[in-house]
Amino acid sequence: MSHRKNIVAGNWKMNKDYEEGRTLAREVVAKLQPSDTIVVLGAPFIHLKGVSHIISEVNNLCLAAQNCHQEEDGAYTGEISTTMLRSVGCDYVILGHSERRDYFEESNQLINAKVKKTLAAGMLPIFCCGEQLPVREAGDHEKLVAQQVKEGLFDLSAEDFSKVVIAYEPVWAIGTGVTASPEQAQEMHAFIRSLVAEHYGEDLANATSILYGGSVKPSNAKELFSQKDVDGGLVGGASLNASDFLAIVAAM
Ligand code: PEP
Repeated sequence: MSHRKNIVAGNWKMNKDYEEGRTLAREVVAKLQPSDTIVVLGAPFIHLKGVSHIISEVNNLCLAAQNCHQEEDGAYTGEISTTMLRSVGCDYVILGHSERRDYFEESNQLINAKVKKTLAAGMLPIFCCGEQLPVREAGDHEKLVAQQVKEGLFDLSAEDFSKVVIAYEPVWAIGTGVTASPEQAQEMHAFIRSLVAEHYGEDLANATSILYGGSVKPSNAKELFSQKDVDGGLVGGASLNASDFLAIVAAM
């Protein structure tokens, strides 16, 4: 039997000013029903401390940053270290999001360094992977995702890997309103789990939470989350509205 955690994580991206972010966090706290699902708010850096205070009393509500720098500290103007993130109460760091890979040219090697830095600081990486539309159309999606997962994660020790959450996010489904079908999601999640099983063994594979991301909405969450290998979601647009986000959490 799997003993993996169910997780629904919101990714606010570069949205909401400081007060709007606090309001959203307060709404989530006020309306969140007790459950075993871990709920994560992925807020912009500047919001983290404020949101951390607001959610601190709620057990299963956690805080994520959306990026970090791979070095400990030093002359990296404009960057944020994992030590800083930990010091304001971050539990998770979203890493390797397709927007970071595409717009900021983050490579598998760089993401791997950030994963290690995040773990060393005592936080948990939410490691994103996923293919662009032309890659899927060419039938190469498994090959590409396998490369992302192997290069991004597979030099971790089993102990470190056990702390990683994987998010499969087909790029063609992010922010487009197009969702992968439950079958497409299940197929890729099972494939990713098989890669983990091959490398780290069945037990660790069964204990790894694999989230689906890409236009998850209240209307499609239940069907996606009911798939055997889908352990929750990484939610962009719909996480900006507390009612929608909580309806997705409830679908878990
Ligand atoms: C995301 O950016 O991680 C995401 C899944 O976005 P959306 O839900 O808006 O497609």
